[in-house]
Amino acid sequence: MSLIVEKYGGTSVGSPERIQAVAKNIAESVAGGDRVVVVVSAMSGETNRLLGLADSVSAKPSARELDVLVSTGEQVTIALLSMALHSLGLGARSYTGGQVKILTDNVHSKARIIHIDSKKMMEDLDNNQVVVVAGFQGVDNENNITTLGRGGSDTTAVALAAALEADECRIYTDVDGVYTADPRVVPEARRLDRITFEEMLELSGAGAKVLQLRSVEFAGKYNVPLRVLSSFETGPGTLITYEESSMEQPLISGITANMDEAKITVRGVPDMPGIAYNIIGAVSEAHINVDMIVQNIGSDGLTDFTFTVAGVDLDKSVELLTPVVSNLKAQTVIGDTNLAKISVVGIGMRSHAGVATTMFQALAEKSINIQMISTSEIKISVTIDKEYAELAVRTLHKAFRLEHLTN
Ligand code: ADP
Ligand code: ASP
Ligand code: MG
Repeated sequence: MSLIVEKYGGTSVGSPERIQAVAKNIAESVAGGDRVVVVVSAMSGETNRLLGLADSVSAKPSARELDVLVSTGEQVTIALLSMALHSLGLGARSYTGGQVKILTDNVHSKARIIHIDSKKMMEDLDNNQVVVVAGFQGVDNENNITTLGRGGSDTTAVALAAALEADECRIYTDVDGVYTADPRVVPEARRLDRITFEEMLELSGAGAKVLQLRSVEFAGKYNVPLRVLSSFETGPGTLITYEESSMEQPLISGITANMDEAKITVRGVPDMPGIAYNIIGAVSEAHINVDMIVQNIGSDGLTDFTFTVAGVDLDKSVELLTPVVSNLKAQTVIGDTNLAKISVVGIGMRSHAGVATTMFQALAEKSINIQMISTSEIKISVTIDKEYAELAVRTLHKAFRLEHLTN
């Protein structure tokens, strides 16, 4: 008898009918002899609706109260799904993150999971109950409600699978696997049967929202067998795997566009030791992740320092940097949201030169201007004007011949 964690995202539970369809899917797993723990997201659009409500009553909502608010979305779906399971004659019990309990740190809106108590879930499973857990949420050690960042239900599912030592964690969503690019942007994109953890980490980190980055980190760290599947149709989905299969490795496995980053430039900084430390240190201390960093060669003793952060962190970052700018006697700090980060990811890059050249040439031929470039062993990212993001992804998909099985 296998223990399976199944996660259903917002579109998959987006209506009463969808919740009933999900209940049927779970009933099939149970009928097949599996013990099932289910994680659900809020119904599609609900988290955004709640965030909109907060904005309409406050210009600067408190982070603690935002988490109390947005966590209600998932509380609705766990109850409805449990009721739908009861209607099919199955035993089911719903739990919020706090009830489980999923202990996190106290960084509201991007909390990290510290510990999960699996005792109650195990008791329920032993009593033939389906355990239905609210995704995206936990509690800190003072019982404040916390949330795990957008897309965080993926991480709840993988963390539960790790804590329960589940046989597989299945992420059911509105596409039937991980593709060579977002299939909504590139119709010719191809579903991958398998992808390595390393590549998936880079794709998620680069903005392929099919799996939240932290869920992939968790799966890699705790060796959780992870699969992405459609909740709308049956199929094998995509297995996230450790092995770099003995089959010939494709050069590139995927291309992503991240539209949610913002660029911050500190202008006219005196070019001296400690600049990077002072600027990046100020934002990192506030748990803000910094992504691409460029420091230009200075002229006349002054330089510009540019980096990117998540779009949601832009205002806070500029606020934090304002005193730093005056301390450093720099000229000004400017925020810009008109950019997209385009990334090309593939393990084959390790052994093949020329990927960057192909990428830059393809973009040049479409007259797409590159602003910033960064590379890792298996990824090349560039930022460009947001307007050209989809064109860039389609162009690169073609340039690397990703619509074909081997490229
Ligand atoms: P859920 O609500 O189920 O968590 P998400 O919207 O978070 O679903 O993630 C699924 C979406 O991710 C897909 O609808 C697709 O548009 C997008 N996506 C982006 N890049 C990829 C990719 N490489 N492969 C598959 N889907 C992708
Ligand atoms: N409901 C949350 C969100 O929209 C979490 C999730 O769906 O994974 O980001
Ligand atoms: Mg998601």
